[in-house]
Amino acid sequence: MKAAVLDGIGSAFEVREVELDKPKSGELLVKVAASGLCASDLNAVDGKRKLVPFPAVIGHEAAGVVVELGPDVTGVAVGDHVIMSIVPSCGTCEYCASGRPNYCSTAGNAMSVGGLFDGTSRLSQNGEKLNHFLTVASFAEYVVVPASGAVVIPKEMPLDRAALISCAVLTGYGAVVNTAKVEAGSTVAVFGCGGVGLNIVQGARLAGATTIIAVDVTEEKLELAKKVGATHVINAASADPVAEVKKICGGVDYAFEALGRESTIQQAWGTVGVDGTLILVGLMKNGATITLDAGPFVNEQSIKGCYFGSANLRKDVPALVNRYLSGELFLDELISERIGLEGLNSAFDRLRAGEGARNVLVFD
Ligand SMILES: [Zn+2]
Ligand SMILES: [Zn+2]
Repeated sequence: MKAAVLDGIGSAFEVREVELDKPKSGELLVKVAASGLCASDLNAVDGKRKLVPFPAVIGHEAAGVVVELGPDVTGVAVGDHVIMSIVPSCGTCEYCASGRPNYCSTAGNAMSVGGLFDGTSRLSQNGEKLNHFLTVASFAEYVVVPASGAVVIPKEMPLDRAALISCAVLTGYGAVVNTAKVEAGSTVAVFGCGGVGLNIVQGARLAGATTIIAVDVTEEKLELAKKVGATHVINAASADPVAEVKKICGGVDYAFEALGRESTIQQAWGTVGVDGTLILVGLMKNGATITLDAGPFVNEQSIKGCYFGSANLRKDVPALVNRYLSGELFLDELISERIGLEGLNSAFDRLRAGEGARNVLVFD
């Protein structure tokens, strides 16, 4: 099969013919239909975070059609449509046993060695091992993935839009609904309106927030933010977002930072009102530290981390698909471009430059 192989940090994707072994126990072979280009892919390409050994096949925001079941797989059938996620779970480690499957240590160990749950890879090229990215590795025509990370979706759900649900939407919507638990009538500010930030905006709309302030430095993304639910937008390239948010509502109940940058975290912290919360959604560079004004703590402000929108795959994915099919969740608007494997390098250049919302790799 064809896959886009990345030989190391900073190298370009090369489309090559690679081998993919059959699924082992608990695994699925899936024909990839679509894979969104996410900031976590870019972090791996640029080395901002060390997420996978090289050479590797990356990509993780994916949806497709099940082609073959490995032994011991239940609840999925050949021909089912599935989204694939970066949070498969073994069901038996201490995190899985304590109800925190998104922190499954078996999955974490597998990811760190570029393998699946038994630590080995199904991917190779001329007999040389290729590494799986976050157990998904979806910049390829086919993937073998742990069945526990896949969720069956109805066939009327378009697969390119379903792919977005598997990472950007779960993360953004989940940050609002699961992590922050935003209540109806709340005031919200969102710093960074890329794939995840726009889904924080629409998560806030779906949660019933009445003031939703989107902050970015590009007009194109601010226009999109308005389409998916922002009541106010601030272009931080030409205005001080902290002063502008204070003018609008004094200070927000919830500020979300979706970029993983110290400067925007400091700005977001400056917009949090009395008893408000800052939620850090953007992933920071390995080893990063942040300095914050300690003043607000006296007003009972707090800061909360967030991983993968504290998502519950089995509960949140069906709910989000239903919300798309009923017209409440906007996904069509978020896809700025559909590309093939050969288009990955230029699409990542656009993502690096902050252009567009979501580029999606699609296969016929
Ligand atoms: Zn992602
Ligand atoms: Zn586990």
